[in-house]
Amino acid sequence: MSVSENIDFIRSKIDKAASAAGRDVGGIELVAVSKKQPEARIEEALKAGHRVFGENRVAEARTRWLERRMKYRDLRLHLIGPLQTNKVKDAVALFDVIETLDRPKLIHALAEEMSNQGKDLPCFIQVNIGAEDQKAGCAIEDVPMLLEEAFDIGLDIQGLMCIPPVNESPVPYFSLLKKLGQRHQLKSLSMGMSGDFEDAIKLGATHIRIGTALFGARDY
Ligand SMILES: *Cc1c(COP(=O)(O)O)cnc(C)c1O
Repeated sequence: MSVSENIDFIRSKIDKAASAAGRDVGGIELVAVSKKQPEARIEEALKAGHRVFGENRVAEARTRWLERRMKYRDLRLHLIGPLQTNKVKDAVALFDVIETLDRPKLIHALAEEMSNQGKDLPCFIQVNIGAEDQKAGCAIEDVPMLLEEAFDIGLDIQGLMCIPPVNESPVPYFSLLKKLGQRHQLKSLSMGMSGDFEDAIKLGATHIRIGTALFGARDY
């Protein structure tokens, strides 16, 4: 199937999952994860009118998107991978949304850089929802402290993001992220990928991040 057929197919599944959950489909953003995909597929998605993309590495994202930004003024680029403080400047210059805020040092570096560049990018706090050693994201118990730091310094925190453990049902983890979001009155939840976005929508996802189901297997 072509990328544009895949987009239509995924959109129809989003529609179904939203109506089954009694939700307005307009409240669900499809972030097309373009990392490690061939350029031709990205061009197909752009040709089909898609404008919201996710990348997990700052350097790779610059190569792919820096020039395209000039051509596609309505692009919305989401950073969905871990951010090192030495990449904050490039990240703030390129991205529209930072989904992977997970520590105080990063909050401070981002706030300072946004002020330097005159930007106010919406951010998500990434939560290590399965408390996995190898995973990025903050501990669940650190969410209140990070929210407070971000609030004090004036960062625009839209919501929470998570990547549940693989090889387990994501449902309890999505539920937990939803509960955390509600507890802190956050309006957005970034959760759900190619294999589990319908469950995520049922549990309140406002942003789903989909790579392989749109573009095919990645090129590693
Ligand atoms: C790669 C990636 C995705 C997309 O995963 P697919 O299974 O290809 O849909 C989503 N979120 C994050 C954070 C990723 O790194």
